[in-house]
Order: sequence, then C-alpha cells, then structure tokens
Amino acid sequence: MKPSDRLNKIPPYLFAEIDRKVDEARAKGVDIINLGIGDPDTPTLPHIVTEMHKAIDDPSTHNYPPYQGTADFRKACSEWMKNRFDVNLDPNSEVLALIGSKEAIAHVFIAFVDPGDYTLIPDPAYPVYKTATILAGGTPYLMPINPENNYLPDLDKIPEDVAKKAKLMFLNYPNNPTGAVANIEYFKKVVDFANKYDILICSDQAYSEMTYDGYVAPSFLQIEGAKDRCIEFFSHSKTYNMTGWRVGFAVGGKEAIKALGTIKNNIDSGVFKAIQNAAITALESPQLNIDDLNKMYQKRRDVLYNGLKELGWNIELPKATFYFWLPVPKGYTSVSFVGLLLEKAGIVVPPGNGYGSNGEGFFRIAITVGEEKIKEALQRMKDAGIRYE
Ligand SMILES: *Cc1c(COP(=O)(O)O)cnc(C)c1O
Repeated sequence: MKPSDRLNKIPPYLFAEIDRKVDEARAKGVDIINLGIGDPDTPTLPHIVTEMHKAIDDPSTHNYPPYQGTADFRKACSEWMKNRFDVNLDPNSEVLALIGSKEAIAHVFIAFVDPGDYTLIPDPAYPVYKTATILAGGTPYLMPINPENNYLPDLDKIPEDVAKKAKLMFLNYPNNPTGAVANIEYFKKVVDFANKYDILICSDQAYSEMTYDGYVAPSFLQIEGAKDRCIEFFSHSKTYNMTGWRVGFAVGGKEAIKALGTIKNNIDSGVFKAIQNAAITALESPQLNIDDLNKMYQKRRDVLYNGLKELGWNIELPKATFYFWLPVPKGYTSVSFVGLLLEKAGIVVPPGNGYGSNGEGFFRIAITVGEEKIKEALQRMKDAGIRYE
C-alpha cells in the first residue's frame, strides 16, 4: 500500500520538533506558558450557545442541510456584508456556507488550479495556501513579505511569465502570522494586477474584525468592479470564539462561488443546520460583543508590547490580529531561539520559518492567554536574560 505521490510533495511539518520538545518539557514537570496557539482562549459568546441549544432541539435541523447553506444563513451573511462593508451581494449566487474557512481555502485551489499553473502565495503565510497548491498539482510562487515592504507583496517583483501562468493570488489582511494590515489603496493595486493577468484574488478575512485603535479592515468587494475578480473567506472562528464549531462563509463573484460550490458539493454535505442557526445569531448580534473581545486583546497587546520594549524589541504596535511577529536576537535562528525560550523560560512559540522560509529570523507570539500569564512570560524572559539586541 503506497500513498499518492502528491502526499510526498507536502513539506515536512516544521512544528513536529517543537511539539516533541514541549512533550519532553511537560514530562519533566516544566510549567509551560503556551504563547503559540492561534485559538481564542475565552468561550463562545453565550447568546450564540443559547441559540445552539434551541436549534439542536428542533428536529428540522437534523437532516442534510442544503449544500450551499440555508437561505436564512446566506441572507444573514449578505446583510452582514452590507452593514460591515456597504457591499451588495446576491445571497443565492454570491454567498456560500463553509465548514470553517480552512476547507474552502484548500478547495478553491482544486477549483481553479491545474497542473502547470502557478499560484501567488505570500511567504510567510498560513501554510494551507502552499500545501493546497501542491495538492492541486500547481506550483506556488512565493512572494516575500517583510518589514521592508510593510508585509505587502511587491507586485512589481513578480516575473511576467509567472504572472501569465498564475491562476490565483492569496492574500490575508489582517495577516497571520505577521499581524500586518493593508489599506484599500494596496487592494486596488492588486485588483489592477489581477485584471491585467486574469487572476482570481483570494482574500482570507479570518481576522477582519479583530482590530484595534479604531483601525477598520477593508474588503476587496468595496472596490468598484472588483467582485468578479475575487472571492473572500470569512470565518466565525476568531471573530466569535467559534473555532470548534466549524462555520464561516465565502463571498465574491458568481463564477468563483459556483466553482468552489461545485467542488464542495462533490466532497462535503454542508454545515449542520443547527450550527448555521447559531452562526446567524452571531452575525446578527450587536458589534458590541466583538468590541468587548477586542478590548480584552488590546489590553493584553499593550502589556506584551511594553514588556517586549523593555527587553529591547523595538517594534510597531500591531493594529490587528492576536499575533506579534518578532525578530530573533542576533546569533539565533528561528528554531534555535524558540528552543531557548522553551528551555530557559518554559515558553512555547512557533518559529517563523514554520510559515515559510522567508519567516526565518522571526518568531510569533499569540496573545491567547490572560494578562497575568503574559506578564509572567515577560518576567521569565527577563530572569533568563533573554533580550533583543
Ligand atoms: C484561523 C485561520 C483560518 C481559518 O479558520 P477556520 O476555523 O477554518 O475558519 C484561516 N486563515 C487564517 C490565516 C487563520 O489564521
């Protein structure tokens, strides 16, 4: 029995070595502070859970759902998009329910990429974009993002022959792992580029609502005439503390939504209707609920920022996401530095190169633990003499 060749082409799991070291440290009784997890640490908002209790008792939610999402769910998504971005979407042809956004992010490659095609993928990035390209038989062209280009791919540096063979470009702002944001002017340049080379823009909006200091993240759909060029992936996971529920939605041009929907209805059978009902409640609940979560993250962010500053990290305050993307001190690689943090301070963080080779020299901190834990982590670094010089 031999697995497919495509499986062998998936790059090795770079966090495996870290996972092993963490297990080892735990076994030795080390009190680990895990700042590695991109998963909210507080529960799903209670009114959503209450709606779920109601929905699951209703037998009409128990059979197969419509594969594209219930009419009510798609309507709630289009209304949310209208309120949030002032964009008009046809709930019947421009909205699709997702089993969390990750499956759709992977499936869109199956829908658009043939062997020999290029995809344009940022480096570092959420690993799915690259692996899904490989699974589809395509070739990822990695666009470096770094402090010099403000973590925005430099479109002028994409070779003409690559652009001509590229089927799609993936972007993710607010960004995981860097916490970077993009403005609408940059998005407009991307739309011009995509129009020129006939490329589908795939916009991962997992962190669209997790923003601070009054910053509001834009949508590609706000750009006149861009809808047919793009598909955006929204997720309930981070916005409403619903990572385990597996629900989100895609919006965009009819053609892209239809192509993704065709792949999906040949692979999955939709989102449990009770979860869709609860997800509607989330979308229709006051923005205030999200503001409260953001206030909590913002306080943690400020604590971490100030502490890191004292330790020598001179960085910009992230405007969005729950991530800090930090350079490792001189003399270390990403992997050797996260090893040091674990050994000397019992702190777990992912190495930057786990998100792409261009992430070498960086590590990521997630503020998905309480303020006290963040303070303790900073104190441990201080005590261990870990500083950025
Ligand atoms: C968390 C995350 C997602 C997906 O989450 P789902 O739970 O599958 O909706 C997508 N993209 C990025 C960049 C993420 O960090």
